[in-house]
Parts: sequence; C-alpha cells; structure tokens
Amino acid sequence: MKYIGAHVSAGGGVENAPLNAKEIGAKAFALFTKNQKQWNASPLTSKSIEAFKKNCSDNGFHSEMILPHDGYLINLGHPEVEGLTKSRNAFVDEMERCEQLGLKMLNFHPGSHLNIISPSECLSRIAGSINIALERTNGVTAVIENTAGQGTNMGYTFEQIAEIISQVEDKTRVGVCIDTCHTFTAGYDLRSKDVFNQTFAKFSEIIGWHYLKAIHLNDSKKELATRVDRHHNIGQGFIGMETFEVLMNDNHFDNMPIILETPDDNLWAQEISLLYSLVK
Ligand SMILES: [Zn+2]
Ligand SMILES: [Zn+2]
Repeated sequence: MKYIGAHVSAGGGVENAPLNAKEIGAKAFALFTKNQKQWNASPLTSKSIEAFKKNCSDNGFHSEMILPHDGYLINLGHPEVEGLTKSRNAFVDEMERCEQLGLKMLNFHPGSHLNIISPSECLSRIAGSINIALERTNGVTAVIENTAGQGTNMGYTFEQIAEIISQVEDKTRVGVCIDTCHTFTAGYDLRSKDVFNQTFAKFSEIIGWHYLKAIHLNDSKKELATRVDRHHNIGQGFIGMETFEVLMNDNHFDNMPIILETPDDNLWAQEISLLYSLVK
C-alpha cells in the first residue's frame, strides 16, 4: 500500500496540518512543527498537541505516515562552535516537539561544511549531533535526507550517508529519506525502469533498504547531475512520468510516507490522484 501526501501548511497551529492533508486526499503528510525560518519558537501548547492528535486520528493519519521536517537554519555539521551548539540545541528542541506530538520521525538535511572544515570532518560532526539528539530524546528516529549537493551541502552521495550512519551509536533510531529531485540532480539517474533499479541497487548495497523510512517525491527543474535543488511538479520536469510510474509499482516503497514537495500546491490533490492512477 502506498501512502502519498504532501508537505502541508501548519499555519495557525500544527493541528491544522492533518486537516490540510485530508483536504487534498493525502494518506500521509509532512509539516514544520515551528517556523522553519526562525531559531526560536514558543513551546507547543497542550491544547494544540491534543487537537493535533485528535485531528490525526479522526482523519486516519497514523504517526508512521507523518514526517515532520526540521527548520532551515539548523546545520548539524557546522564548522564553528557557536553555530554547531545553536544547531544542536534547536535540533533537540525539534525532536522534543515531535515526541510531544506522538510522532516517530524527524526529517532533516545533514549539514554543510561551509569550506571551513573538510567534508569528512563535517560528516563526523553530523553523526555527533545525531548521537547527542538521540541520547537526549526518546522514540523519535532521525531521518537523514539526501541532498542535491548544492554549495557545501553534504549527503549527496549514498557513501556520505552511509558514513554518517556508521558513526551513529543507536542504529535503531536513524533512517534515510530519499528525495527524487535531489537524487537526480546529485547525479543518480532515475528516468527508466532500468536506471531506476540500478540507482536503488546502489542504495541497497551502500546504505541498505532497511534504513529507508520515507520518500520525497518531486520532479526537477534542473538536469541530471547539476547539483542544483529546484523542485518541479510531477511530470513537468527533467525526471518525467516513467520514474513515478516505476516507483508507484515497486513494493519497496510500500508503507512509508511518500511526500510531495512540488512547488504548485494547487496541484497537490491532482498529483496525488494521478500517482494512485499509475498503480497497475
Ligand atoms: Zn528537505
Ligand atoms: Zn525533500
């Protein structure tokens, strides 16, 4: 069974996210549990937490199909003490918010070396940050998202992600989210059944299927291996429909959140039904 959804708005309170997801016919959803562009947020109120849980259960959203995303300012591989400490504290806060909401995962971008430290030092810092967050929280899995490799962002090769995981102490609480746009612009082709299967055979060999916890399903405004992160609506970019048809018919992607982060949110309901129509 495929659980397709989108990264919906939590404007007006996290409790609105499941309602927004229901509206577009989603079976899964992603959200920010705080403003993604700010460091600080007021704590979640018990009223908001209860309403979130009720709206999720009333609308059939189980916690396994909800994939919160962390804020954009956090850099868990930050080369400088101040930035690293600030990021680690903010990440723990986000993990705690997930715990309060009864959620099981937190999706994040690994981090950036900013040309100040080496890529391998950056990967170790990211793993160190994950270790701290897992130690300070309970029950929430840290889900590493692969990146397009724009700028000094790490996590654009499967080897880099495997290296982070190898340095995480509690391997039962670390996972991976594969973003199709990032994968493609990082240089892994997906555009036919053959190359799609070759790319995921590499994923399986280097990282392992058991770490795959979620998918971000996006087309790309940029060509293969451009290392630029520009999402496009399903079927409108350089990836194209064949990839999405292959994915929808591959049971490796069953029973996990598959989240649209496509730019035109007016199309989400259509994209969700289009994707379900591809299942043979
Ligand atoms: Zn992301
Ligand atoms: Zn993504």
